[in-house]
Amino acid sequence: MDLMRTQTQPAPLWQNWARTARATPRRFASPSTEAEVAALVATEAAEGGQVRVVGAGHSFTPAAVSDGLLLQLDALDDLEWVGPPAADGSRLVRVGAGIRLRALCRLLAEHGLALENLGDIDAQSVAGAISTGTHGTGATLRGLADQVRGVRLVGATGEVVEADQDQHRELFEVARLGLGSVGVLTAVTLRCVPAFTLTADERPRPLGAVLEALDDEAGPVHANDHFEFYWFPYTDVVLTKANNRGGDAGPLSPVLRMVDDEILSNGVFEVTNRLCTVVKSLTPKVNWVAARALSARRYTAPSYEVFATPRRVRFREMEYALPAHAVVPALRAMNTWLRHTGETVPFPVEVRFAAADDVWLSTAYGRDTAYVAVHQYHRLPFARYFRAVEDIMRSHDGRPHWGKLHRRRAEDLAPAYPRFDDAARVRRAADPEGLFANEYTDRVLGGR
Ligand SMILES: Cc1cc2nc3c(=O)[nH]c(=O)nc-3n(C[C@H](O)[C@H](O)[C@H](O)COP(=O)(O)OP(=O)(O)OC[C@H]3O[C@@H](n4cnc5c(N)ncnc54)[C@H](O)[C@@H]3O)c2cc1C
Repeated sequence: MDLMRTQTQPAPLWQNWARTARATPRRFASPSTEAEVAALVATEAAEGGQVRVVGAGHSFTPAAVSDGLLLQLDALDDLEWVGPPAADGSRLVRVGAGIRLRALCRLLAEHGLALENLGDIDAQSVAGAISTGTHGTGATLRGLADQVRGVRLVGATGEVVEADQDQHRELFEVARLGLGSVGVLTAVTLRCVPAFTLTADERPRPLGAVLEALDDEAGPVHANDHFEFYWFPYTDVVLTKANNRGGDAGPLSPVLRMVDDEILSNGVFEVTNRLCTVVKSLTPKVNWVAARALSARRYTAPSYEVFATPRRVRFREMEYALPAHAVVPALRAMNTWLRHTGETVPFPVEVRFAAADDVWLSTAYGRDTAYVAVHQYHRLPFARYFRAVEDIMRSHDGRPHWGKLHRRRAEDLAPAYPRFDDAARVRRAADPEGLFANEYTDRVLGGR
């Protein structure tokens, strides 16, 4: 049986969710076993080609683009094993690297388990999410890659390698967060916690009051398990979201969920964005209405249902990780720039928090972090807005999210990451020919 003939298909034009990256790979394959992945990688390596993996295509950057072989590992979605409980009740779980977070969360729930934290959607694959440093919010919590305790990957000669804290430790560091630049992840071992519910408390609050309390040890960032807020430019209102473990506020009524999440956050939001695209001068007024329309609500639900919400309005995004203390001056500078230029921005700015970690290429490496994410409706230009915000973020020592739009290059990212050169060394050793490299990894991680 000719594996290549049975497994590869004529390559379709591939594009990401945001329509900011596209590719026509020479070959596309969706292998269903690790052995097939290894054979496909070995063949591509022998031909001197290029291998990239795409998860759910939810990165805004061209991280997954390939001219050679593009792999999709949706079929590698098995739960391989669930480990025994540790003293704190957590367990290690090994899953296929292609599993989507949505499916993973439901599978974990069947075993009485959950991910400790999650971002605001659950469409991503587990490998894609960890590879770009995907994170949620919570001042004492860390990103998804920090929860990875081991990986199995297919390396540059098609060999299968186990990497964790004890074996191939340095490879493990770059494998768990490194844009797929040291191999194809086929399985991931994750630390999971006992399943829990969250009580969500969402309410509009004055921007000034929220900013004033941000650095306060007793303020909402530290007083809640998960705290974030959305600020609509040109308004002084923010929608705060505080999620705390336990509680008994009851479920959200299906009608209210539909009105808020589907009609206001998606249906009406699409219409208001289109309106601002046509009549740009309406943006400040529309933002005022939008900020007020999102009403207060409280409910309790399984953690994964509270973390993730549907996002159907297409947008472009840039997100910067700042030292936590820099977020207020950075937001004030953005406010000044927006009011000075009158830029059309009908999408809110999202602000989240995370604890320092020690994952080499994590945006939260070595420092407590505040994340500032700017979004732009896909029919509106984003370049000038994102450039201006990026300049502000750089002046505060910001690090860009690896999966979201930015203009940084390896030369100026290296000083921002104490272990950047170590990661480059590991990458050179694991992949001397650049089999797993593409233009984006060369730009942001450096050529070999
Ligand atoms: C609507 C939306 C909401 C988002 N919300 C958040 C959020 O709340 N928090 C946050 O931090 N980010 C968020 N993101 C960004 C998103 O989490 C990341 O871009 C993530 O990488 C996307 O996962 P994916 O499965 O789509 O990966 P892809 O974009 O397909 O791939 C990402 C990278 O992983 C590599 N990769 C994928 N699978 C493998 C594998 N098996 N082996 C090796 N490398 C692999 C790819 O080659 C690529 O370099 C959001 C994005 C969108 C579009």
